[in-house]
Amino acid sequence: MVRASEEDREAIRESVRKICAEFPDSYWREVDKTFAYPQAFVDALTKSGYLAALIPEEYGGAGLGIMEAAIILEEINRSPGNGLACHAQMYTMGTLLRHGSEAQKRRYLPKIATGELRLQAFAVTEPDAGSETTRLQTRAVRSGDKYVINGQKIFISRAKQSDLMLLLARTTPYDALKNKTEGLSVFLIDMRSIGGRLDIKPLEMMFNHHTNILFFEDVEIPVDSLIGEEGKGFRYIIDGWNAERILVASEAIGDGRWFVDRAAKYASERVVFGKPIGANQGVQFPIARSYAHVEAAGLMRDTAAAKFDRGEKCGAEANMAKLLASEAAWEAANACLDAHGGYGFAREYDVERKFRETRLYSTAPINNNLVLAFLGQNVLGMPKSY
Ligand SMILES: Cc1cc2nc3c(=O)[nH]c(=O)nc-3n(C[C@H](O)[C@H](O)[C@H](O)COP(=O)(O)OP(=O)(O)OC[C@H]3O[C@@H](n4cnc5c(N)ncnc54)[C@H](O)[C@@H]3O)c2cc1C
Repeated sequence: MVRASEEDREAIRESVRKICAEFPDSYWREVDKTFAYPQAFVDALTKSGYLAALIPEEYGGAGLGIMEAAIILEEINRSPGNGLACHAQMYTMGTLLRHGSEAQKRRYLPKIATGELRLQAFAVTEPDAGSETTRLQTRAVRSGDKYVINGQKIFISRAKQSDLMLLLARTTPYDALKNKTEGLSVFLIDMRSIGGRLDIKPLEMMFNHHTNILFFEDVEIPVDSLIGEEGKGFRYIIDGWNAERILVASEAIGDGRWFVDRAAKYASERVVFGKPIGANQGVQFPIARSYAHVEAAGLMRDTAAAKFDRGEKCGAEANMAKLLASEAAWEAANACLDAHGGYGFAREYDVERKFRETRLYSTAPINNNLVLAFLGQNVLGMPKSY
């Protein structure tokens, strides 16, 4: 991994800001209104190399650490934009790097780095298995030199904007397992060349997120699509959770800073009863309070990312960062909406769009209840609820 200095990090921030400045409010408003995919933005980010931040240099990436990836996503969300359009590549990279074979890395990573191949879909959730991942039912059955997949996945984002999909599927029936965390396997599927039938049906969501329901009907994939060992997939996915928590926290921090900046500016300019509304403590204090909370979450994120990059245990910090950042972003979103009065609801002010977008971080990729359960049970040692 390339060890970035503070100056390097500032340079990355500045550079991502410059790219984002080419995609103003009006671009994201239009994309949101038409439910379009922000292809031009994703292309610019790919071309800059920042989307390949976590791919090692030997495979054509930038070889940076989680702290730099966090800064990149934070700056995207601090702009009018949103990293949701393309963050999966960063979220899932650890699984491929840690558990993929050398042949898989050589085959895919250089092409992902250049954008020739898109790894933007990560399929875990099912209609009857959300938080309780070990209950998932989509089956992958070995048949000669192939696996045959049948089942359903729900809320799978960007499946239509991706060539590759990381899939968690069951290779041993639940009832046949002694240890219920085994029996799941991770596959890297090239959706351009599968046998059988994969139907991808878009879902209408609260905001522009390209989320789908997937139906697998005798989908055939080559055996070398398996990542690591069969049956160890849940373990591999868990290994990626700290990175994911840190990256989600960073997107929320970016949103939080956007809300605070917009709220403070508007509250300083809008005059009601002969003075700027921000002079009233009823308007000023919620903005100041959410600012403090966003910045505190930022410090927790920094601690988590630093530990992660040093290879130290960071489950507690990564989970706390995700919890604090998603709550702080939501608090800032409400303060910003309140400060804008009725204009907060008008599309042309962009507050309502970001408001809808930032609510996600409390719920997905993992609900804050389960983050609290991790802290309560695994860090503080209290009894388990599940
Ligand atoms: C916009 C969007 C995009 C998504 N993209 C993807 C994607 O690309 N890939 C993917 O695999 N998934 C994706 N998801 C799914 C997301 O990860 C799940 O929604 C999430 O894991 C929760 O699962 P669930 O919705 O089934 O909730 P459930 O598991 O049904 O839980 C419902 C509620 O009960 C709470 N709860 C459950 N058990 C407990 C307990 N023991 N203690 C306290 N509270 C509990 C939960 O915290 C939650 O609040 C996406 C979701 C959304 C909304």
